[in-house]
Amino acid sequence: MTQKLLAGSFQLMKSLNRSLILNTIRTEGPISRAEIAKLTKLTPPTVSNIVKELIDSDIVIESNQGESRGGRKPTMLVINGKNFFVIGIEVSPASIYSVITNLNAKIIDSVSIDIHHPITNESLLSFLSKSVKQLLDKNNWINREHILGIGVAMHGIVDIENGISIYAPGLKLRNIPIKEHLESEFNLTVKVDNDANSMALGEAWFGHGYDIGDFVCVNVGQGIGAGIIINGKLLHGNEFLSGEIGHMTIDIDGPKCSCGNYGCLEALAAGPYLAERAKKQLAMGEKSMLIHMTGHNLDKLTGELIYEAASQGDPFSINVLKETGKYLGIGLSNLIHTINPSCIIMGGGVTKSGHILLDSLKETIKQRGLTEQAKSTQVMLTKLGDQAAVIGAVCLVLVELFFTQSPQTSII
Ligand SMILES: [Zn+2]
Repeated sequence: MTQKLLAGSFQLMKSLNRSLILNTIRTEGPISRAEIAKLTKLTPPTVSNIVKELIDSDIVIESNQGESRGGRKPTMLVINGKNFFVIGIEVSPASIYSVITNLNAKIIDSVSIDIHHPITNESLLSFLSKSVKQLLDKNNWINREHILGIGVAMHGIVDIENGISIYAPGLKLRNIPIKEHLESEFNLTVKVDNDANSMALGEAWFGHGYDIGDFVCVNVGQGIGAGIIINGKLLHGNEFLSGEIGHMTIDIDGPKCSCGNYGCLEALAAGPYLAERAKKQLAMGEKSMLIHMTGHNLDKLTGELIYEAASQGDPFSINVLKETGKYLGIGLSNLIHTINPSCIIMGGGVTKSGHILLDSLKETIKQRGLTEQAKSTQVMLTKLGDQAAVIGAVCLVLVELFFTQSPQTSII
C-alpha cells in the first residue's frame, strides 16, 4: 500500500542503483559519470541511463566542467539540494514543531503548535495535519512534486516499520498511526522514529557525529532517551526499545518514575524530576534564591529556573545540578560499559544547564570508567542545538532517499 502512496519523484529515485548513484554524487560530488561508474562498480551505460533519469527529474544537475586527463573535459554532476524539500516534525509532550528544509537540511520555514492536554489520538493526528498544511500554505511557491517526504521525530516508543507511536508517555497516548494518517492525507512518503534516535541521525548527517561510526546521542529534557549508532546504523533493538536509558535503575530506593519503577535515571535527572527533587529539599527548609525567584510558590519551580539560579551562584542550585550531573554520569558510565561509544553527544534542555552539571557528569565518568579509554570518553553538546530532533526528522527521509533498505547498508 505504501508504495502506491509515494509521490512520483520519490518513487523514481528510490531503487538500489539510483540510491547508490545519488549517494555517490552527494558524498563525492562534483563528480563525473566515469568516476561514478568506477566508485559504484556499475557499468558506464547503467550510470548514464540512471543519471539521465535523475537529471530529468531535476534532482541532479550538471555543474562546471571537470579536469580532463586528455580529451574532452567531463561534465560534473551535483545534487540539486536547494530545489528539493523535506518536512520535519518534532512531537514533544508540549508542542508540535514543524519545519520545511532543502536537502542540505537548511530550514526555510517553521510552524509551532501548542498541545493542550488531555489529548486524544485523533486530535493529535489532526494537529499534525494542521501543522503540515500551514507549512505548505505558507510556502505555496514550492512545487509539491519537489517535496520528498515527511519525517516525524516522536517522543516515546515508535514502531518504525509501521510508523506507529506505540507509547507516547508525555501525551499518555498509545498506538497512534502517524505514518498511515499523514501518507493518506498528503500523498507523501512518511517516516517516523523516536526523538532521540532522530537526534542521533541529525548529528550523524549534519552535526558532531559526522563520520563517526559509533556514538550515542542522549536527549535530556522532559524525559531521558538515547539514540545509539553502531557501525553507522541506528540501533532499534528487537521491539524498538533500544536507547530507553531513562528507565535504567540508578537507585533502587530512589523516587518513583512515570513508568512505575523506582529510582530510574529519568526520575532523578530529567527536567521535571529535577525540579521535584529540589522542591522537596526546599520544603524541608533549605535556603535558596529559588524561593524568591518563584515568588514563594514552589510549584513554579522548573529545571530552567534552577539553571538560572546556579548561574547566579546560588549554592543550593549549584548543588542540585552537581547531584544531577552525578546521576547522569552514573547512567552514562553504564552506557559506556555496554556500548563503548567513541563519544556521547548531549541534546535537549540539559544543553542549557551550563558547565556545572556537565563538569560533574564528566567527573563521574572519569571516576567510574573501567579503563583509561572509558574514563576519557568524550562528552559534548549537540551541534544542532534546539533543532537537533527536527533536523533528525528530516534525515529520516534523507536516509530513505540516499540509501537502499538493505539491512547491511550503513545509513551515514
Ligand atoms: Zn522509569
